Amino acid sequence: MRQMITVLGATGSIGKSTLDVLARHKDLYQVFALSANTQVDLLLQQCLTHAPKYAVMVDGGSAQQLAEALKQHGSKVEVLTGVDALVEIASDSEVDQVMAAIVGAAGLLPTLAAAQAGKRVLLANKEALVMSGQLFMQAVLDNQAELLPIDSEHNAIFQSLPLGYGQDPSYQQQIEKILLTASGGPFRGWGLDALSKVTPKQAVKHPNWSMGQKISVDSATLMNKGLELIEACWLFDVTPQQIDVVVHPESIIHSMVQYVDGSVLCQMGNPDMRTPIAYGLAWPERITSGVKPLNLFEVAQLNFEAPDHQTFPALNLAAQAFNAGGTAATILNAANEVAVDGFLREQIAFTSISSLIDETLNACTLEAADSLEAILQADAWARRFVKDRIPS
Ligand code: NAD
Ligand code: MG
Repeated sequence: MRQMITVLGATGSIGKSTLDVLARHKDLYQVFALSANTQVDLLLQQCLTHAPKYAVMVDGGSAQQLAEALKQHGSKVEVLTGVDALVEIASDSEVDQVMAAIVGAAGLLPTLAAAQAGKRVLLANKEALVMSGQLFMQAVLDNQAELLPIDSEHNAIFQSLPLGYGQDPSYQQQIEKILLTASGGPFRGWGLDALSKVTPKQAVKHPNWSMGQKISVDSATLMNKGLELIEACWLFDVTPQQIDVVVHPESIIHSMVQYVDGSVLCQMGNPDMRTPIAYGLAWPERITSGVKPLNLFEVAQLNFEAPDHQTFPALNLAAQAFNAGGTAATILNAANEVAVDGFLREQIAFTSISSLIDETLNACTLEAADSLEAILQADAWARRFVKDRIPS
């Protein structure tokens, strides 16, 4: 029996890589549903190639266009629209695995629905976990969902942890630290003055990875590493104090686990998301991914340095938010999304992204983050707070 897969965010960078891996293993996987926000042409092509049962476009007008185009091609794919439809394709009883690859808070409801329906959740959408950590992990536990990290660092940590970690608390005593690697982004080594003048075009040009716009800006501010720090705390039940961020510009080592006996285990590979995607799909087995084998002679050198917290305050803001608890991480995430959007629209400076988040965290009232209502309310409050401070 082939596994049935829903890909949320199919037209994005992770979505496309996922479909590439799935196309290599038609004997193992069948696409159940694909979703996108507004990219009609690409979703049409993907529907014609992968013949899913459903295609969901959140935008109503785009859904109508897609339905008409599919009809002209004689395709039987059923087109649905709206957030409710995203939740349906993520939790349908026919589905085995859900690739959560929508960017930002927009992915929360379907990703949470997949966990509540007890699916294998392939988590790329880190923002969903960051904003709802406690609720999300509880949903995974209560419904025996399988949560497999796709973020390359977390996938590497998962691969470097002992099998059964998470089920047996004694394993935690064997682990001294998690070493979370960071490329340092396109502005590694830059000073604050130069940073205040960078353009969106410069910020989205990542040295090693080809990714969506939002995560590329997050990588440039180091907020991506901040979100990943919080992601690691929830996934592996550790605190920020147990995680060291290691800047490793080559992005060949994807993260490490340091054990009490002095051993450090890591996962290496070329920077290509198809490796963690294939690992998540096939776990505990392995399948081919299309990724070029690592040639260490070509790489020749691996470098490591400490992060520059003065110039890139985002990392510490994230650690503070996790330590503060409650809705702090929800607020950090929402403030970041709105600030990044303002920067991409050239309404604020690059350096204002972190200062706006700092200001938002200082102004907020924290609540318990134990219900969806509390999370959505905190998210909406932070969005308004930052929007009010961005000139239009
Ligand atoms: P992307 O911008 O390339 O794609 C985003 C996808 O989400 C698209 O399919 C888009 O249609 C959909 N989308 C956007 N807004 C939406 C909305 N409001 N409602 C429904 N769908 C919406 O992003 P990406 O780089 O593929 O990243 C996706 C997620 O994976 C992010 O959370 C990112 O942090 C994470 N991630 C990405 C990479 C990477 O290499 N790209 C690596 C690790 C983690
Ligand atoms: Mg990552």
